[in-house]
Parts: sequence; structure tokens; C-alpha cells
Amino acid sequence: MANKGLLLCVCQGTCPSFHKMNVFEVLNEIRKEKLVDVVAVHPQLCADDGDLFLESFLSGHQIDKLYVAGCSPTMQEKMFRDSFTKAGFELKDFVGIEIRNLDTPQAIEVIKKVVKTEKEKII
Ligand code: SF4
Repeated sequence: MANKGLLLCVCQGTCPSFHKMNVFEVLNEIRKEKLVDVVAVHPQLCADDGDLFLESFLSGHQIDKLYVAGCSPTMQEKMFRDSFTKAGFELKDFVGIEIRNLDTPQAIEVIKKVVKTEKEKII
């Protein structure tokens, strides 16, 4: 079974860019609407243990579409590329979402918009 996953990455929770949002509320809104199949928050995906987490998350949950809400999508692509390769996950199935400096409702809105747009593309 293939799944859609959403990860929130928050620069260890110490970066001011993420202080205006409640990350748990953001994830909860997305999962309540069943816009994706699995959600999780990670403090620092670009660290070594983040690489390991990404690889196990992708293969363990059989993820066929991955959304990561955090820093800029361009930075994310560069930082996650090797983990995707190791997990056999294609870059085309990854969507980075910039949520820095947003408050909780704004972050929810941006993520919903991206996920719904991607769904429409598939349909
Ligand atoms: S991947 Fe981006 S959001 Fe996550 S810890 Fe690294 S710089 Fe911060």
C-alpha cells in the first residue's frame, strides 16, 4: 500500500522562524482532514539522525508522496537528496513547503493549499 506523508521540520524548535506556530496543531489539522496518510514532526531532518529518520520513514511507511514543511524547498532538496536515493525514493515525488515565519493558521493554509493542488494534479 502506498501512502502520502507529511513531515514538519522545525530547526530544533529554537529558531524564531517557527515560534509563531503550534506545530502539533498544524499537523493535527492536516491529519483530521485526511489530506495525507501519516504525519510526524522532526526537530532537525538535515542532521545525521534526520537522514536515518527520513530513510526509515519513507521505506517503513511505504511513502509514495512526501511533503516536508519547514525551510525553503530548494534547501530541502539539496539536504534530503542522498537519503531519498538510499531509500529508493524519487525526487519527483517530494514536495517541500516553506512555512518559516508563519503563524498556526497561515501554516495550515499554506500546507493545505499545496497538498490539495498536488492531489488535483494526480486526478
Ligand atoms: S531541514 Fe530545514 S527546517 Fe529542518 S532543521 Fe534543517 S534547516 Fe531547519
